[in-house]
Amino acid sequence: MLLPVQSGFLLVNFDLKTNIFIYTGLASDMARGHQKFQSQQKNAKKQADIKKSKGHDQKAAAKAALVYTCTVCRTQMPDPKTFKQHFESKHPKSSMPPELVSVEA
Ligand SMILES: [Zn+2]
Repeated sequence: MLLPVQSGFLLVNFDLKTNIFIYTGLASDMARGHQKFQSQQKNAKKQADIKKSKGHDQKAAAKAALVYTCTVCRTQMPDPKTFKQHFESKHPKSSMPPELVSVEA
């Protein structure tokens, strides 16, 4: 089993089986490598967050923009006025949903 040890600016692994130190590099190298790795992870997280929030906003906006779905043809419309106009012109023979009757087109 190897035990990573930092001695001053040297990085070594202490081999518990043979009781010897194995030189693995300079501490500053590892610190730099670690820092690089951390910043890469940060960047990746940032990108994911941006992607997530963007997708969320677009979805929410699309949902908010299209709240009325035609009960006959499933067309989505942003407001009851449009819905009523659509219903009157596209489905004059169908009975209008009750919530549209009172809407002034
Ligand atoms: Zn329709």
